[in-house]
Amino acid sequence: MSLHKLIQWSEKDFTDLPWRKKRTLYGTLVSEIMLQQTTVGTVKNHFEKFLQRFPDLQSLASASEEEVIVAWKGLGYYRRARNLKKISEHLVSEYKGKFPSTALELQKIPGIGPYTSHALIAIGKDARGLAVDANLERVIARLYGLEFEKGPKLQKKILELFEADEIFSGFNLSYRALNEALMDLGRTFCQARKASCELCPLKTDCHAFKTKKQLSFPLEKTAGKKVSQEHELHLLRILIISKNKVLVYKKSENEWLSGQYELPTLVISSTDKKLKQYPQLETELAESELKQFKTGITKYKIIN
Ligand code: SF4
Repeated sequence: MSLHKLIQWSEKDFTDLPWRKKRTLYGTLVSEIMLQQTTVGTVKNHFEKFLQRFPDLQSLASASEEEVIVAWKGLGYYRRARNLKKISEHLVSEYKGKFPSTALELQKIPGIGPYTSHALIAIGKDARGLAVDANLERVIARLYGLEFEKGPKLQKKILELFEADEIFSGFNLSYRALNEALMDLGRTFCQARKASCELCPLKTDCHAFKTKKQLSFPLEKTAGKKVSQEHELHLLRILIISKNKVLVYKKSENEWLSGQYELPTLVISSTDKKLKQYPQLETELAESELKQFKTGITKYKIIN
C-alpha cells in the first residue's frame, strides 16, 4: 500500500496547520476537541489564541468556566469548552497534570472517549493508535472494502482489525503521520458525497476505487435512521439597559446552550412543539413592527 506516498502528500500540503507546528499532548487535546464539529478553517483562527490564553493544563484547570467560554467564542458547541476544562481539572487533580500513557487509561477520564484517547496516543505521542471518527471510518472502509454499517459498529470493527494487525500492518511508519494523512484525505479527496480518486495517493490500493463503488462505503444505516427536521422559531428578545448594563441571565447546566448568557426571551411561535426552552408569549404581537434579525442553530431557523 502506498502509505508513504500518502504521508508525503499530507506533509507537503498540510504541515502549516497551527496545531502541527509545535507538538504537545495538551495542544493535541485542545486541537482535537476543537476539531470535533468545527471545520479546520475556523479552528485555524482560534487555536493559537486559545493556547496563548491557556498555555497548559494548569492554566486551563485553574481558570473560571466563564473565562474558558469567552476564549472559546467563535468555535460554537460550548459544551466542548466545558468538557475540555473538566478534563484538565481531572488530569491536574488525579494525575498530577500528566497524561496517562495508554488509550485505555485515558478513557477512564470523564470526557475522553475512544477517538480522543487514540488521537492523544497517535498524534500527541506519535505512538501506536488510530483515531477513528466519521472521516477516518469512511476512508478506511473504502480502502479495505469493509462492509459494515457506518457509525459505532464500523468504528469498533476498524479498531479490532487495527489491534489484530490486519489493517495498516507491515509498515514502519509514524502513527502521527499516518493518522494525520488519513484525516487530510477524508477532508479533501475522500469526502462523504464526493471521491476525487484520480488525485488520491492511495488509488492503486483502494478497494472502492478498483471496484468503482466509492460512494457505497461505508454502508448506510438501515434501521432507526433519524430524519432530522428543521424547525422555525419566532422569539421575542427583551432588551433592558440600565446604567450602561444589559440584563442577561446565565443558562443552567441542563438547558440548551448551557452556560451561555442570553437576553430574557419568550416564544412567539414555534414549529417544534417539544421545545420547552422559553416561556410562551401569551398576548398578540404585531411582529412586523419589531426589529427582526435571523439566526440559525442546529435544526432551528430563528427569527428574533
Ligand atoms: S481512491 Fe478514492 S475512495 Fe479510495 S481512498 Fe482515495 S479518494 Fe477515497
